[in-house]
Amino acid sequence: MPVTILIVEDELAIADSIAYALRTDGFVAQHVSLGAQALQAMRATDPATLPALVVLDVGLPDMNGFEVCRQLRQFCNAPVIFLTARSDEIDRIVGLEIGADDYVTKPFSPRELVARIRVVLRRLAPPAAPGAPTPGARFELRDAEARILYRGQALDLTRYEYLLLKTLCERPSHVLSRAQLMDRVWADAPDTLDRTVDAHVKSLRAKLRQVDASDDPIQTHRGMGYSLAGA
Ligand code: CA
Repeated sequence: MPVTILIVEDELAIADSIAYALRTDGFVAQHVSLGAQALQAMRATDPATLPALVVLDVGLPDMNGFEVCRQLRQFCNAPVIFLTARSDEIDRIVGLEIGADDYVTKPFSPRELVARIRVVLRRLAPPAAPGAPTPGARFELRDAEARILYRGQALDLTRYEYLLLKTLCERPSHVLSRAQLMDRVWADAPDTLDRTVDAHVKSLRAKLRQVDASDDPIQTHRGMGYSLAGA
């Protein structure tokens, strides 16, 4: 099934060059010029046409790309690669306050962008090697019981620890920023701080260590966030 990439860019020449490079590489390119249209496109309910990744220009006529990303993150996990022309924007993206997966600086080579897109999509793909150890082998999610088993042993978790570990388990090998974790785990507590996330990761790690002291499946990505080891 061809993979659709959504291009959100108001400069048509740039959008065309990205679309061309994507199509050359076997992707389906969908293009919109406004942030509101991007959000609309990502609300598509047909999984066959839902874009797998969003290439998002920061400077859009109706709303900036950061705001688009923030609203997108409230209902959608699709990876976002920002297009930016300014270094102060890069600082915000690199801080990953807004849940971006990567960025490219204008001017850029469309082929380089397509290569980045492939890297991000590959990173998100479920581990392919059969028989390889996966988080599924370590963790067992029992949603109905709101319980998670680690190496066959039920964990005694607080509500937020449970939601945090469940969120990480659902996206193995995917780096989730503190902001993304706050959006998903602490959705009912909007004034949560970064250090709340860190404190819960710490207590969660301690509980996992009690089961298996030789393993630390939660990986810290300095300045970016956390992931659950995929293999
Ligand atoms: Ca622009």
